[in-house]
Amino acid sequence: MTIFEGNIQAIHEEIEKMTIIDTHEHLYPERECLKFDADAFMMFRHYCRFDLIAAGMKEDKIKIVFDSDAPLMQRWREFKPYYEAISNSTYVQSAHIAMERFYGENRLTDGNVEIVTQRIKDARKPGLYANVIRDACNIETCLNQGQNREEKPLFSYPDDPLLTPVSNWINNPRAYESVAGYADLLGRDVGSVEDLVDAARLHVRKVKKHGGVGIKFPVFPMSYPDMAEAKEAFARIIKDKTLWLPPENPIANVFYDALLREAQEQDLVACIHTGYWFNYRELNPSHGIFMFDHYPDVSFDLYHVGYPYVREAIMLGKSRGNVWMNMCWTYIISPHFACDALTEMLEMVPWTKIIGFGGDYAVAEKIYGHLVLARRVMAKALATKVCDGAMTLDKAISLAHHMLYQNPKNLYKL
Ligand SMILES: [Zn+2]
Repeated sequence: MTIFEGNIQAIHEEIEKMTIIDTHEHLYPERECLKFDADAFMMFRHYCRFDLIAAGMKEDKIKIVFDSDAPLMQRWREFKPYYEAISNSTYVQSAHIAMERFYGENRLTDGNVEIVTQRIKDARKPGLYANVIRDACNIETCLNQGQNREEKPLFSYPDDPLLTPVSNWINNPRAYESVAGYADLLGRDVGSVEDLVDAARLHVRKVKKHGGVGIKFPVFPMSYPDMAEAKEAFARIIKDKTLWLPPENPIANVFYDALLREAQEQDLVACIHTGYWFNYRELNPSHGIFMFDHYPDVSFDLYHVGYPYVREAIMLGKSRGNVWMNMCWTYIISPHFACDALTEMLEMVPWTKIIGFGGDYAVAEKIYGHLVLARRVMAKALATKVCDGAMTLDKAISLAHHMLYQNPKNLYKL
């Protein structure tokens, strides 16, 4: 064993014992989760589904794979060739690690699809989250952006002691559709920019009232709020209900100004999605510079290290005191990128601002797969710094604890 390998092992052994704050999940309340028709394909929903699309699988075939009413073996026959094509993806690797830990098989085969399905069904009983999140992962709490079975966003999880609420993604009000969506919250139709401002404030207060610790929204190139311009743009989207304004638009400037002021008032963290997601060019982390600089008393938790705009994200952690770097989702996007990013951050960003883990999953078991990968990457990045002579082994272990526990606890005041 080399000195490097020895250091990785020593750090990894310590990380495995650590209690973790999981800073980002999309879990259903356990009671809702238990009502789903569970089967082996449940392990490959969500991100693996996007891999299937990337492998060329057509939507009608994907529907069959995830249709719990279709015969199991027919679903497997559709899935199998594309499953093989995506077998190198870390999304799949993470699912396999979880499947092995909880259901005893490290990949699906002709011979075990039915067995794994039965084991998954058998596990769907009260206590599932405690078994997975608390006992297998050693997670103290998950900051959760959850939904019910009808996919309606939730603000609280009164029956789930392991879930701490963070608001769901707050839409940029750039089209009639997204504006009209605020009627529920407001209790009336959204008829003006003033109504939208009310909705923004109400949203933040509602999150706070239910014990939430953060509000989440996508980054966008914000600019100075101008009510007259916002009213003019509002009139245009009311007139043409198919019109989509660009992400940088005067309505959003006024809306997010209200949201961020209220977040500051209520002492909530602004959780900001950056990078990877549909039109990721709109989600470049550097788009956030205006809001980071004009709301200096708001703490921004910058998610996903802006992949693929990684260095732009790290630069923000380096240059702004109110921007934290959150590694959620990263280790399953690519452990290689995550390791490089974390190593670079350890050379650039105050360690007090690095948030180590968020599973970013809707299926609890898969958090375990992500966490196994995260521990390996963190141990490797920290061992690199020990071998470089930049820190002692003890310091590296202490930083791991801070990234996985103390830093998120401090940032979110848990
Ligand atoms: Zn997410």
